[in-house]
Amino acid sequence: MPAIRLRGLRKEFGQVHAVDGVDLDIPPGEFFSMLGPSGSGKTTVLRMIAGFELPTSGTIELHGRDVSRLAPFDRDVNTVFQDYALFPHMTVRQNVEYGLRVKRVPRAERRQRAKEALETVRLGDFGERKPDQLSGGQRQRVALARALVNRPKVLLLDEPLGALDLKLRHTMQTELKQIQREVGITFIFVTHDQDEALTMSDRIAVFNAGRIEQVGSPVEVYERPASAFVAGFVGTSNLLSGGGAENIIGKAGVFSIRPEKIRVDADLSKAADVGETSATGTVTNTVYAGATVRYEVTLDAGGQLSVVRQNTAEPVDFEGGRVRLSWRHEHSFRVPEAG
Ligand code: ADP
Ligand code: MG
Repeated sequence: MPAIRLRGLRKEFGQVHAVDGVDLDIPPGEFFSMLGPSGSGKTTVLRMIAGFELPTSGTIELHGRDVSRLAPFDRDVNTVFQDYALFPHMTVRQNVEYGLRVKRVPRAERRQRAKEALETVRLGDFGERKPDQLSGGQRQRVALARALVNRPKVLLLDEPLGALDLKLRHTMQTELKQIQREVGITFIFVTHDQDEALTMSDRIAVFNAGRIEQVGSPVEVYERPASAFVAGFVGTSNLLSGGGAENIIGKAGVFSIRPEKIRVDADLSKAADVGETSATGTVTNTVYAGATVRYEVTLDAGGQLSVVRQNTAEPVDFEGGRVRLSWRHEHSFRVPEAG
């Protein structure tokens, strides 16, 4: 039985179709991400699962029980928001205990559960501090402990790492994933950051304009995007179409190739290897990014491709030069066109 089952879920705000028919099954214990651009309906789906918003139509089941019309406190879910609004005058421990106090959980049990929750988020020694004596990452973990202390079956997280700087965000991504493994709770994680979704999730739903374009593992979504939108939103949009596709691949349609699958070579005389597609062009832009260099190449046969090259040796300056690009046949694949 899935932890969450959504069927025909819709939400309209006046003329806005915020969520436009979402069907989804999420098994227990999964780290599931909803990924998509701003305004694509992710938060609205989350708020409907939590019960803060009622669906215009469709149903929400939690562990087989239809909760579509229940109040938030009658659903076995908790939410962690981006602005995690800790009570500034309370200690960390009091913040974590607060929900249990409201539910009149006896003092000794409250203490014990708060202690465990703080240990889970590696803040066992921070209980007596005030929120303003913590770093951003630590405050975020208090917010997480505050949700975990309720022992929900499902935890909803809406861009919880959005306010953190990049380095801290990366650390927290790893920790959050580890914590999820330890507690075994189903996590529904909303983000607009493709790297975050790829590195943390068991599966990802890619949202576009209130609908899901694809659901799959990070590898599936990245290596085999189901639409041009997914190819562009998850990773760099690197498409061949029209005359370029016909000349280079020999077929009509829209084809996606990931930039790191392409080899770039200044020796134009070299023939393509067996099993490879190749195309010549001119480098129009070079972007040095430390570990990698990105080349923008305008193809003689029509179209443009980005190529990413690891700086395993000295970076090569192809700027303005003629190059041959090559990639294995299976690395360029057709994606359905929009519509
Ligand atoms: P996301 O979380 O993917 O950025 P949201 O679910 O917040 O997207 O929003 C989806 C769409 O619904 C947007 O166009 C947004 O402006 C609209 N929307 C969200 N909440 C409301 C509301 N309370 N009233 C009117 N429009 C809303
Ligand atoms: Mg949102």
